[in-house]
Amino acid sequence: MCIFCRIAAHDIPSSIVYEDDHYLAFLDIAPVTKGHTLIIPKAHYDDFTMTPGTVIKDISEIARKLTKHYDAVLRPNGYNFISNAKEAAGQSVAHVHFHLIPRYDEMDGLILTFKGKEKDKLSEALKIDLKVK
Ligand code: 5GP
Ligand code: ZN
Repeated sequence: MCIFCRIAAHDIPSSIVYEDDHYLAFLDIAPVTKGHTLIIPKAHYDDFTMTPGTVIKDISEIARKLTKHYDAVLRPNGYNFISNAKEAAGQSVAHVHFHLIPRYDEMDGLILTFKGKEKDKLSEALKIDLKVK
């Protein structure tokens, strides 16, 4: 059983902020900001590319509900909602999870940069190949 399956089964304690029959949201053990939360399905899927769309949809809805609640309690100024899929993207626990990270300002501990690079612009041919038909 993976570590998040064990957390979902209450075998390993966690600070739970939301739970229903199929989902769990709990505080990250190493928070990057105040209120950094992980949302998981209790069923095991390795990462979000392996997870049914209905599950992703449910998790998004739980995240949205949590933001309403956190807005009142933590009063952040924004949120990042991200899922790292596979090692190359920084995934360290192979049980799908979404990070809900309350943001206070740009210096609050999460450094997320999107540096556009000329070399990563696609050729016109690849842009056509990339379109879902
Ligand atoms: P990833 O790197 O896979 O995107 O995120 C995994 C997250 O899980 C990390 O932010 C890490 O701090 C958190 N984490 C790992 N083990 C535990 C644990 O046992 N309990 C809790 N609450 N969080 C954990
Ligand atoms: Zn698992």
